[in-house]
Amino acid sequence: MERKINIAIDGFSSCGKSTLAKSLAKKLKYRYVDTGAMYRAIGLYALENQLIDQQDQVVNEALIEHLKQVQVEFRVDPISHKSKVFLNGRSIGDQIRTIQIADLASQVSKLRQVRDKLQVLQRVFVQEKGVIMDGRDIGTVVMPQAELKIFMTADHEVRALRRFKELEERGKPISLDQVKQRQRKRDQDDVQRAEDPLIQAEDAIVLDNSFMSPEEQLNFVLDKVHALIEQ
Ligand code: C5P
Repeated sequence: MERKINIAIDGFSSCGKSTLAKSLAKKLKYRYVDTGAMYRAIGLYALENQLIDQQDQVVNEALIEHLKQVQVEFRVDPISHKSKVFLNGRSIGDQIRTIQIADLASQVSKLRQVRDKLQVLQRVFVQEKGVIMDGRDIGTVVMPQAELKIFMTADHEVRALRRFKELEERGKPISLDQVKQRQRKRDQDDVQRAEDPLIQAEDAIVLDNSFMSPEEQLNFVLDKVHALIEQ
């Protein structure tokens, strides 16, 4: 049987990490783990349980108190390879794909207690080979032993436009300027936070996909995977 490796994909928001990770997983028959969805699930929990103040800020102490009763699960269907996130047993899908939840996810991800809880879940997947995990701290903290690490980046304007079109298609009205502003804030928060900030792992390969098609990105990474497997 072909040797399997683990692949860590980190990078800024709206860089196309999950699109690339999903197509890689399909091609290689690997398991894709979307760690951002887990942070989004906790953001949704905070929203649904009114743990947010009038300025849309998560009340950290209250969330930390609740954490014991928050159960997040990430399951991959072995047949369809589709993944689902569960919050206290309830499957959550599209409702975590909003700008509001992205902002809340970014806020809750600053808390050490939240990161510890989710990293325990994420590390369970790493016990096997053939895993593709994407996020902000995968190559540096969750899967530092991954054989292949990709750090994705793209031009700010290009990313904002991609995100704007995606939200428009989903019927979520927001202006391009608002998308840009929020993206800048999220990038800044991810890079500057004290706990597991977004940084490029020393041994990561940078993939700037500003002017690359999804197919070009897939082939770029597949070349690296094949070179490693054949070593
Ligand atoms: O990747 P996604 O945009 O779904 O992630 C939502 C937020 O969760 C990010 O802005 C980031 O703050 C946080 N996150 C994180 N560590 C990860 C994955 C996501 O801090 N491994």
